[in-house]
Order: sequence, then structure tokens, then C-alpha cells
Amino acid sequence: MSSSILVVGSVAFDSVETPFGKADEVLGGSATYFSTSASYFTDVKLVAVVGTDFPDVHIKGLKDRGIDVAGLKKVPGKTFRWKGRYEYDLNQAHTLETHLNVFSSFNPEIPDSYKESPFVFLANIDPELQMKVLDQVKGPRFVACDTMNFWIEGKPDALRKLLKRVDLFVINEGEAREFSGEASLVKAARKILENGPKTLIVKRGEYGALMFNGGTIFSAPAYPLEDIFDPTGAGDTFAGGLMGYLANSGDVSGDNLRKAIIFGSVMASFNVEAFSLERLNTLTLEEIRNRYSEFKQLTRFEDI
Ligand code: AMP
Repeated sequence: MSSSILVVGSVAFDSVETPFGKADEVLGGSATYFSTSASYFTDVKLVAVVGTDFPDVHIKGLKDRGIDVAGLKKVPGKTFRWKGRYEYDLNQAHTLETHLNVFSSFNPEIPDSYKESPFVFLANIDPELQMKVLDQVKGPRFVACDTMNFWIEGKPDALRKLLKRVDLFVINEGEAREFSGEASLVKAARKILENGPKTLIVKRGEYGALMFNGGTIFSAPAYPLEDIFDPTGAGDTFAGGLMGYLANSGDVSGDNLRKAIIFGSVMASFNVEAFSLERLNTLTLEEIRNRYSEFKQLTRFEDI
């Protein structure tokens, strides 16, 4: 039976430059990408804050995808803004500006209808806010968490405290190295897992993802796309597909996590084909299924 997912993270205006184009103040944010991606698989309950400059049409867009926005607050002030640039190496985002705005004084209050969500995703945002949300959820079955260098450098102690209560930690390759102080991803994973999570997934952009879990390693490729337009949100979209699939199937075993990683990779591969959420918003279930089958072909080999 399909279970719902509670997500807390940023809802933002992004300004992004890539070698292939530019977008100014478009809809973005870790929770926005996550929710949209996961909504193809299961019910999503969103916790975030926006300012009075945030147009209702974006909130309607989320609602139209079936996302529960009872926990999305609009308060006086400006919405979170992020400005980033990518060079030809699209795996590496260069942050130019981060304006927390209404997030700097946000004190999340979880609606009662959210409190029994079995799956919880703490998308990239201040680890103290992630903790405040987790504190209000009653006995969640599976908790996953993402972060980025901004918080690893800014609030390492809060992050370590949070990790003690997390089942799955998802971060990108550069952040895994930075957080652990190890160049080898195998050593980095070992050190990071000592902080508490049972499973670590390291996102490696166009090189796919690695999962470290109970002494085993699973490697998944990324879909070989001819053109990548804008990688912003790929990580959150990946997490949305992964958690969406886990919640939909209700199975958090190691074997099912492998399959969930492929669904995450499928969703991320669509997201990078256009700026903002343009591609994610127009997907069909058939397109998702077809790309999943292509993934299977991509990694299939047999002993002869
Ligand atoms: P990613 O999936 O890693 O590409 O995440 C991109 C999204 O993260 C963008 O839409 C940004 O709005 C959001 N973001 C960037 N920096 C932060 C931050 N420090 N805290 C929360 N969200 C952020």
C-alpha cells in the first residue's frame, strides 16, 4: 500500500547560468523539485515558507500535482533566493548568492494531518529546521536527509546531531569528501556512516550514484543524455523519485533501495533536460516507465 511522504526544504526563486542559457528568478528550491518528482509516485505533504512576493500560481501548480500545501506558509518578507553558475563541468554548481530571507526566522509548525507520515524527507535546508520538523513527527518508519556544502560548513554540529536520527543520507560526491575529509569515497562513506545513518547514497552527477549499505556497495549509472540543459534540482529530483518509489512500494529493503535508485535516476534524467521544473511538470507515467526499461538495458549483461 502506498504511504505518504512529508518533506521539508526550500521553496525558492533561482537564477541560473549554464553554458547553454540563463534563467532569472524561476521557480526552484529543494522541496519544490523533490515534491514534484515524488508526486508521480505517492502523496506528498510539503513543509516550507515563502514570502509575499511568491505568486499564487506556483502554489496552484503544486496543488494541481496533488501535493498537500497545508504546511506551506506565506509570511511577510521575501522568498528564499539562490543564484548559481555551471561551467562545462555540469556536475559542479558554483553558488554565487544565497539569500535565506523568510527562512532565517522560520519556525515550522507541522499540521496535525502531517504528523503520522511514515516517510520523511529532510531536503536541503538549515539542519536545525530539519530537526524541528523531525521532532514533530510521530514514529516515522523511514527518514532520509540531504544537505549541501553551505550547511556542512555553516552548521556541522547541528548536521551531525541530526544524522543520528536518519536512516538514509543522500549527498553529492564533493560534499561527501568535504564532510568526511577523505578523498576516497569508500573511506568517506565509512566515516559518514559512523555518524548514524544505515545507508549512504553518494550522487555523482553524470557518473550516476553509489549506495553504501551494511558493508555492500551498489553502483547505478546516470542516463547518458545527449544534451543536458540545466542540472539544477537534479539531486532533489533524484531523491523524489527514490523516496516516491520506496513509499509507493512500502518496502525499504536493500534490494528495493537499488530499484528506487534507478527510479531516482530516471526522474533526474528528465529534470536536466530543461530549466526550472519545465520538464518535470509535463512528464507522463509512460515516459517514466519507458526510461526505466532503458536503464535496465543499459546495465544488463550476462555470463556466457
Ligand atoms: P540540487 O538538487 O542540489 O541541484 O539543488 C538545487 C536547489 O537547491 C535549487 O533550486 C536551490 O534553490 C536550492 N538551494 C541552493 N542552496 C540552498 C541552501 N543553502 N539551502 C536550501 N536550498 C538551497
